[in-house]
Amino acid sequence: MTSLPVIPTSPDAPIGGAARRAAMPPRHLADLDLAGRQALVAELGEPAFRAKQLSNHYFGRLVRDPEQMTDLPAATRARLAEQLLPRLLNPVREMACDDGATRKALWRLHDGSLVESVLMGYPDRITVCISSQAGCGMACPFCATGQAGLTRNLSTAEIVDQAVYLAGVAASGAVAGAPPRLSHVVFMGMGEPLANYARVVAAIRRLCAPAPEGLGLSQRHITVSTVGLVPAIRRLADEDLSVTLALSLHAPDDDLRDELVPVNQRWKVAEVLDAAWDYAGRTGRRVSIEYAMIRDVNDQPWRADLLGRLLAGRLAHVNLIPLNPTPGSRWDASPKPVEREFVRRLREAGVSTTVRDTRGREIDGACGQLAAAEVAS
Ligand code: SF4
Repeated sequence: MTSLPVIPTSPDAPIGGAARRAAMPPRHLADLDLAGRQALVAELGEPAFRAKQLSNHYFGRLVRDPEQMTDLPAATRARLAEQLLPRLLNPVREMACDDGATRKALWRLHDGSLVESVLMGYPDRITVCISSQAGCGMACPFCATGQAGLTRNLSTAEIVDQAVYLAGVAASGAVAGAPPRLSHVVFMGMGEPLANYARVVAAIRRLCAPAPEGLGLSQRHITVSTVGLVPAIRRLADEDLSVTLALSLHAPDDDLRDELVPVNQRWKVAEVLDAAWDYAGRTGRRVSIEYAMIRDVNDQPWRADLLGRLLAGRLAHVNLIPLNPTPGSRWDASPKPVEREFVRRLREAGVSTTVRDTRGREIDGACGQLAAAEVAS
């Protein structure tokens, strides 16, 4: 049995015990809304319109290098960049596979923490998967990130900057066969997004605000995943956002889910599904039920039938994920015939079901694997 993560007393307190290093990064313009940037620029003795100029470069043109902001006087440029555009992400490794359509980036943050982001190009869209925490305190036993524990929450700007950087990669035309504009963001990288609630919600607002305030993405193209922090799901439903909620269920019964997703020891399957249906009802958004298919663990026909009974008639879609085993792990992916039977039973129960593609397998595509490999090396 895996031990229960420490449950926070406030939505932004670290889960999983004290973070090993809590030093937050320097302030960045993406931490602030446009009014906040204007106030800061004024405090620095510059006209407020400089905030808009900087924001246009960063969010509108995806330019992060102050030297390229030639409409700003050189002396002012350096000072403003130091105050509003500190470097947050230092590339450690960038890897590509699937003929360049999948790119994974490993970053070192100012305090040495490592985080990962992934870009996936498709003929009709570009999706980036971003991290919300360095490490994760949720202790899911089949996950590389969960094994390392939580280091700290990311700042709003550290979250946004992953998307802005990868939007720049997309805009450069480097992703063959995909449109040049980033359109979708999923919070499915390292960390439990709802355990870093306020910064994640601020990041969503920044990603969706039109330029120059933000990146101008559609809220409907943002997906926030959670293992099921029930109070935070209910709070998210109050935010007046139409983002998709992805619930990492992984088991339909409490006995198994207590082990696979230890936070289930605090909020049971029935409670978490109740919160998910409330979210769907309030937002009109279909909830994505994430289910990692693990050989001989959660892939039995009776579990498919039980899941089908729980979800039938609900505003839900099941996304089955072939497990990407972490090196040395006792967990393995379900065989394809078992996966097909699981899909068949869910569909027979009237539940919309698909199997997620397995992008990035050859570059340690599962969250935390690249960081784990870097630490090991
Ligand atoms: S699966 Fe997600 S929530 Fe669970 S330990 Fe890994 S990163 Fe954290």
